Amino acid sequence: MDVVSEPSAPRAAARPRPGPHRVGAEIDLAALRANVRALRERAAGAELMAVVKADAYGHGMIPCARAARQAGAGWLGTATPEEALALRAAGDRGRLLCWLWTPGGPWREAIEADVDVSASDPWALREIIGAARACGRTARVHLKIDTGLGRSGCQPAGWEALTAAARAAEAEGTVRVAGVWSHFACADEPGHPSIAAQLAVFREALATAARAGLDPEVRHIANSPAALTLPEAHFDLVRTGVSVYGLSPSPEVGVPADFGLRPVMTLRARLALVKRVPAGHGVSYGHHYTTPGETTLALVPAGYADGVPRHASGSGPVLVAGKWRTVAGRVAMDQFVVDLGGDTAAEGDEAVLFGPGDAGEPTAEDWARAVGTIGYEIVTRIGARVPRVHLNAEA
Ligand SMILES: *Cc1c(COP(=O)(O)O)cnc(C)c1O
Repeated sequence: MDVVSEPSAPRAAARPRPGPHRVGAEIDLAALRANVRALRERAAGAELMAVVKADAYGHGMIPCARAARQAGAGWLGTATPEEALALRAAGDRGRLLCWLWTPGGPWREAIEADVDVSASDPWALREIIGAARACGRTARVHLKIDTGLGRSGCQPAGWEALTAAARAAEAEGTVRVAGVWSHFACADEPGHPSIAAQLAVFREALATAARAGLDPEVRHIANSPAALTLPEAHFDLVRTGVSVYGLSPSPEVGVPADFGLRPVMTLRARLALVKRVPAGHGVSYGHHYTTPGETTLALVPAGYADGVPRHASGSGPVLVAGKWRTVAGRVAMDQFVVDLGGDTAAEGDEAVLFGPGDAGEPTAEDWARAVGTIGYEIVTRIGARVPRVHLNAEA
């Protein structure tokens, strides 16, 4: 046989098709924009902040931030100053708050880039005042009160002193208190008694700030669960993250469709190998799965380096050849196996790990349930090795 004129092309190469050749995350920006519009409607009267920290919960920060702005997000929020400065470097010019600061952080760069900053403690206010003096600008600061989360924020005992110090800095012209804010501990468990308790402390803190002479533009405490379930917590601004990406904060809050939300990320892979194996064949490290009979195994080329949780070993759901399959044996760094039972598939066929769910595929919430975590973590942990393809960007 003449191998030059009659090459035996591999099956996958003979059937080129759109989509990733190994694994890829499709990010539907039209869904993201629709989610932002639905959330704005629900928060009627309050402004909306799209939280785009952690690479927009794994969805790609810059394209998601752009799409959120197109859909009318007046504010963006990040955890770190580096994230905020990257948004400015990419051309974003709207209101933008970042809240996770450590001593010696890039205060001056943030102030010069017109980024709103946050202070939970006098040390932060002192550094802000120093940076504002050094660059001759007025820093926009959001003072954070710990109403009960026990994470960042000023304890109520120190609040009067913090607000007084901020007022003095306003008089000097170095600071403008643009916001007073806090964060919930259990808003994803509607009815939890800590919610009302935190709201009461927040109202107290607002009254104290007013007595100190502060007049913040925005008072804010609501994250996604509070934006979705607790109108009295909306105040002037809601800070929505996970809901922008079309996921529900928790099963107790509801499913995304209840709120007109649609998951934005679909994670697809292509089968790398499909083969028949005999009964009693061990599968993957540790042989935690053994084929119950002669069967067909399919190799999915995505692993924990791509963000597929190793805890999904033996439990993660995947749509392959028209049915939900379960990860057979351990998830390895780069690959895992599914048992197709009596069904067949070909190399290059698609495996859908999760998506909106309307083509029968699992959702990120299904993965969260299988693994014992939350949808937030499933999308945010998708690895840097996975290419993101952003669909439906507006011209
Ligand atoms: C991450 C974060 C949010 C967004 O929370 P979601 O539950 O994803 O809406 C809001 N505020 C702060 C301070 C956060 O850290």
